[in-house]
Amino acid sequence: MAAKVRPLIAGNWKMNGLKSSALREVKKLAGRMHKAGRTGCDVLLCPPVPLLAPLRVVVKGSRIALGGQDCHAAANGAHTGDISAEMLADAGCGYVIVGHSERRADHGESSRDVRAKAKAVHRAGLRAIICVGETGAERKRGQTLGVIGKQLTDSLPKGCTAENTVVAYEPVWAIGTGLTPTVDDVAQVHAFIRARLQRRFREHAQGMRLLYGGSVKASNAVELMAVANVNGALVGGASLTAGDFWPIVKTCI
Ligand code: PEP
Repeated sequence: MAAKVRPLIAGNWKMNGLKSSALREVKKLAGRMHKAGRTGCDVLLCPPVPLLAPLRVVVKGSRIALGGQDCHAAANGAHTGDISAEMLADAGCGYVIVGHSERRADHGESSRDVRAKAKAVHRAGLRAIICVGETGAERKRGQTLGVIGKQLTDSLPKGCTAENTVVAYEPVWAIGTGLTPTVDDVAQVHAFIRARLQRRFREHAQGMRLLYGGSVKASNAVELMAVANVNGALVGGASLTAGDFWPIVKTCI
């Protein structure tokens, strides 16, 4: 029987947002959460790095956590333009996304790189949100589970627990396209991921949160969040405004 897992609704802002609009939207979101009282889920925003400091002030006292969108595997050093997990912890982050398909595709990150980054996130005492997902071509060729199985094996480091690791299933073809898999497809992949985690991480696997990501919006959140083994969502475009994100968060109240 599946364990009761507290869902996580996470927003990935990617390279979007300037200070004034970001402050306005997050204040609105915090206000709506405050008015609603207790939320039955954890809420996370992963803005661009320059927004972490101003948003840290706004989310103080709210139940919104902050996270990074990526990190370097090293704690410090000669890596121009990069940022370490320790720096993100220092900036008030509780989570770091690693292995997002845009990092894998645009920056040539392999699952081995992702594993090193996830290890760094754990080293810094943060939670890693490790992304996996097949491309449209891989799905058409019937390779979905094979691709995801390999990504899980290669991207997750030793020592993953329910406390330090979240896995996000994000079909690449569903990201930013308005397309989503059927609920049966999501159920199949999430059951597969749970079984793989169980095999490797034993008792830790049942409590690990498995997020679905890819064109989640208010109109499909209820049915996606109701799928077995879906313990929340990783949301891109619809996390940028309180008006779009709040109805998704509300599905977990
Ligand atoms: C994402 O990039 O993680 C994502 C899920 O994007 P979107 O919700 O816009 O499809």
